[in-house]
Amino acid sequence: MTETKAQSTSTVETRAFDTEVHQLLKLMINSLYSNREIFLRELISNASDAIDKLRFEALTDDKLQASIQAPTIDVSFNAEENELVIEDTGIGMTRDEVIDNLGTIARSGTARFLESLSGDAKQDARLIGQFGVGFYASFIVAESVTVETLKAGQAETQAVRWRSEGQGEYTLEPVQRQHHGTRIVLKLAEDHHDLLDSHRLENIIQHYSNHVAFPIRLQKPAEHEPGDAPDEAEESQQEWSQINDTQALWTRPKAELSEQDYQEFYGGLSGDFEPPATWAHHHVEGSQCYSMLLYLPAHAPFDLAWNRDEQTGLKLYINRVFIMDAAESLVPRYLRFVRGVVDSADLPLNVSREILQDSPLLGKIRSAVIRRSLDMLEKLAEEGGDAWLRIRDDFGNVLKEGVIEDPENRERIAKLLRFDSTEMKDGKKTSLHDYLTRATATDSEDNETDDASSPIWYLLADTRSQALSSPHLEAFDQQDIEVLLLTDPIDHWLVNHLAEFEGHSLKSAASGEVKLDSANQPADAASSDSGSTATGGSEAQASVIESLKKALGDQVGEVLASQRLVDSASCLVEAPGALNAQMRKMLKQAGQDVPDVKPNLEVNLHHPLLKMMADPAFRDSDLGQSLANILLGQAQLVEGGELADPAGFVKQVNQLLEQSIGAPKTDPIKQD
Ligand code: ADP
Repeated sequence: MTETKAQSTSTVETRAFDTEVHQLLKLMINSLYSNREIFLRELISNASDAIDKLRFEALTDDKLQASIQAPTIDVSFNAEENELVIEDTGIGMTRDEVIDNLGTIARSGTARFLESLSGDAKQDARLIGQFGVGFYASFIVAESVTVETLKAGQAETQAVRWRSEGQGEYTLEPVQRQHHGTRIVLKLAEDHHDLLDSHRLENIIQHYSNHVAFPIRLQKPAEHEPGDAPDEAEESQQEWSQINDTQALWTRPKAELSEQDYQEFYGGLSGDFEPPATWAHHHVEGSQCYSMLLYLPAHAPFDLAWNRDEQTGLKLYINRVFIMDAAESLVPRYLRFVRGVVDSADLPLNVSREILQDSPLLGKIRSAVIRRSLDMLEKLAEEGGDAWLRIRDDFGNVLKEGVIEDPENRERIAKLLRFDSTEMKDGKKTSLHDYLTRATATDSEDNETDDASSPIWYLLADTRSQALSSPHLEAFDQQDIEVLLLTDPIDHWLVNHLAEFEGHSLKSAASGEVKLDSANQPADAASSDSGSTATGGSEAQASVIESLKKALGDQVGEVLASQRLVDSASCLVEAPGALNAQMRKMLKQAGQDVPDVKPNLEVNLHHPLLKMMADPAFRDSDLGQSLANILLGQAQLVEGGELADPAGFVKQVNQLLEQSIGAPKTDPIKQD
């Protein structure tokens, strides 16, 4: 391979890493120690990316045509010097690129890995399986690393040597290199000298990098009799042999491929240690041809939920030339967990990536990616096995984004969603379809509502237990009506976009449309004018409501006598169609103008606290005023809302407590 000579005039420049790299490297090395072999996967994958980049550049730069002939990734070692060498014929780096890429960890996969380290060795090992940890993984096994690189198209003398012991500093010096590409020499630390063995290296490379698209060659020492030391001639005859299978797997007929082939390819593509949940491989022929191999991972990557901009799941190739990691033009964000490869011979090769994104064929491929991905999800859902349960839990929330982003497929996506509900116990979840099957079966038993009018009831809350203790559920409990319990932040958006499912509208259990059915109204409510109502008749009720309105002023919309509360004294009710409280809060936080619509306060006139209000003397007293505020505060608190004046609320509660337990006016503890 290419020899590199230091220039006689070279000046070695020492530079510091831009952050506390030293500490971070130590942390990484400790947590990766038991998975040390992945350093080779990382370096080979960088080499393969570098060759991909060169091939891409060569599409539009004729001068580079010659440089893409015979791409290789060569691995060799020198057992005497304890050195392992990985050399590629990729695009190489300029001096500035070396500083940018290897002088900082902020840009590399390493940084993302470090950010997510939890300190728990088992969990961290899973993380490594989920994405690359980058170039710095070399320091797991090496006491020093030397990188020599020449950018394709530059003069031999513009090559650069980067060297570091991973201790906070690195050196840079100009060198000469005959061939573009990058040569990385790892001086292995003593613990890792066992890696200097061709069988060992071959196994590692085949395990992690078998489907890399370019030949990986390993230099094997020449065979000689035991005890018979190799002479110089034999040394120089050491052979290079290719050890991976470079044929683009996705272009091969399905019938030729085994389950193991697909799983191995997935491992190389995603870096995931776990086999995928399922995959779909299609060759589309006709006026436009493309191949597509899509995988659903068994688990979500750790940052799936928030990392909406990370789009590296799907790779786009044109005629086996890597073009780009999929952007939104190829796969929508709500399917960002799908991994795979799309390859088409019919896309224009020599145009910019930006123009490519507008190609109509890409639009067609995108629809196919969506269709096939939803097919895979539906099939898993139908089978209902463990793989589906994991997908349901790991990807369910991301799929909900699809209901919002992809109106065309809204119904299909909604069918795949699973929800907690008042009927679901022990982590079970229901689909909207199953909810409706149960709801309409009950309806037809009762023979009251026709199928189509039966709504899908839901309640938004922060947690399941908060939802279950909500006063809003009391009327539903009484009538045995199932309510979906929506506790994920995205649910607030979801219900705004999913107005109906299979012809049934979705309705909030916290909106003003629900009543206890008459059979379930408390006995005295039905005969309010018989004089037996708690508040002493409708006139008295009206006065109670009136006085609450006066006391609460514009803190609430209306004060209403509730027909849905059983045990609770009060609850807040949204006007139908109004933005729910949580949505208003989120929009406000996002700096948007939100109309300040006050919810209504419903009170349970059969509750002892409200009965107290029936006494005109009490309700006009200070305590009566306090009680009004407490009824509102309670209603806000059970919804997980915030009180405008928590200290004032506590004071008013205490006043009322003191009164009801008859607290002494003088202090019996005080000693004089
Ligand atoms: P990542 O590969 O996740 O970006 P790395 O730390 O592995 O992070 O590498 C940082 C950057 O260094 C790469 O993005 C690439 O630009 C450059 N690089 C690394 N190895 C090579 C190589 N063999 N040839 C050319 N560039 C490389």
